[in-house]
Amino acid sequence: MTSSIRARFAPSPTGYIHVGSVRTALYNYLFAKKNKGTYVLRVEDTDQTRKVDGSIENLLDVMNKLSLASDEGPSAQGQTGDFGPYYQSERLDLYQKYIEQMIESKKAYRCFCSSERLDEMRINQTAKGLPTRYDRKCLSLSIEESNSRANESHVVRLNVPVNETILVDDIIRGKIQFKSEEIDDQVLLKSDGFPTYHFANVVDDHLMKISHVIRGEEWLLSTAKHVLLYQALSWETPKFAHLPLLLNADKSKLSKRQGDVAVEDFLNAGYLEEALINFLALLGWHGNTDQEIFTLDELIEQFSLERVSKSGAVFDREKLDWMNGQYLKNIISEERYLEVVHKALDSSFDHSFTKAQLDKIFLALRSKLDKAKDINDHFQVFVTPFAEFDYSGTDIQEVMAIESNELLFSLFMDEIDDAETLDSATFKKIMKSIQKEHKIKGKALFMSSRVALTGQMHGPDLGILADVFTKEELIARFDNAKLKLP
Ligand code: GLU
Repeated sequence: MTSSIRARFAPSPTGYIHVGSVRTALYNYLFAKKNKGTYVLRVEDTDQTRKVDGSIENLLDVMNKLSLASDEGPSAQGQTGDFGPYYQSERLDLYQKYIEQMIESKKAYRCFCSSERLDEMRINQTAKGLPTRYDRKCLSLSIEESNSRANESHVVRLNVPVNETILVDDIIRGKIQFKSEEIDDQVLLKSDGFPTYHFANVVDDHLMKISHVIRGEEWLLSTAKHVLLYQALSWETPKFAHLPLLLNADKSKLSKRQGDVAVEDFLNAGYLEEALINFLALLGWHGNTDQEIFTLDELIEQFSLERVSKSGAVFDREKLDWMNGQYLKNIISEERYLEVVHKALDSSFDHSFTKAQLDKIFLALRSKLDKAKDINDHFQVFVTPFAEFDYSGTDIQEVMAIESNELLFSLFMDEIDDAETLDSATFKKIMKSIQKEHKIKGKALFMSSRVALTGQMHGPDLGILADVFTKEELIARFDNAKLKLP
């Protein structure tokens, strides 16, 4: 049975999805699941000017990929749940109903001031060094006058009480006080009949029976306004938890300037969904041990808001690479590994390997990849014709100068030629026998053969070359290296 715990993720469809939003979605998801509650998705699309087409489809797609599909709300199959519609743009009548109630009870009032007047007021206030606030001119209109002008263009503002202390009780931050003087008479309903974020957010959290509002720290001041709204509507406030900011390495607010911030960019760059989730989960939360690798189920089991920290969390890109590497190398199944690497391989490579050969190559490279896209660097060695090998580097020249090379390369050519079939096991046997019989070992054996076969100092286990290339190709590579000896 589900509990009465209801958490929600309430994005505005304004384009790409910031990793900070995914962290918020994830914490809401984990909190709801941990408490056998419901995770709701609500689309806050009341600001029609900021709406970007396709954002919702993209959001649903990304959330599905990240395994963060909601229990209620919009989905690719339509909207599900008893508290819909889940798009604020489809709930305008509801907001209208509550706004009228608030006007009636004088908790809100119509404001007919022109934008010219408001601009002038702001300019004057700024010139005097005052905070820019509405001067409450329309608050003094009688309810009769206000009602009689209801057809004129107007907004509806919150009548913020004077001299009151507003208390926000936050699960992560404790009790925070705000003075009502610091709060402007917020616009609740715009002249186009659309609610503002504050109003729609509170009405919906109430009507959707949201028990816990979990969102970023940047919304804290808004929460003070929301508390006033709950009071004005005589509604019980949900519990609040404000998550720490995400920071760049230099402790500034996480921004595009210092790298990608859109989750789509990370996915397109080949980061694994499960690694991203694991990484984001640890941005502001930690379990009660030093465990760093968590499956989604383990996160659900261990998550608690009490373990979320107050201070900002650095988005450490190196750690993300490390974590992604852990998943790619050690955690995901071989099947999934192959699937993501095949997908990440640049289609512009000109090669004639079969799927089975590619699988072998990819598996041989598994320990070398931090990101699936790294395959493209490592694969290069399999497609570069030996005629193009560049032996000019100092390290390579040093290896090429090893005295035993001429003998070594000839031995390899003979042994490979004599071998009945060639595969990695045979290749290793050949290496061993050369080592034993000719006492060529260490760098003189391993680096020289690597440089001959790949033209490089680093790369995959050499056996893989014997698995995927023909005898003739390997012999030609040794022959080529032999000709290039100093
Ligand atoms: N629509 C807001 C956003 O875009 C929601 C903030 C909240 O969770 O209340 O983040």
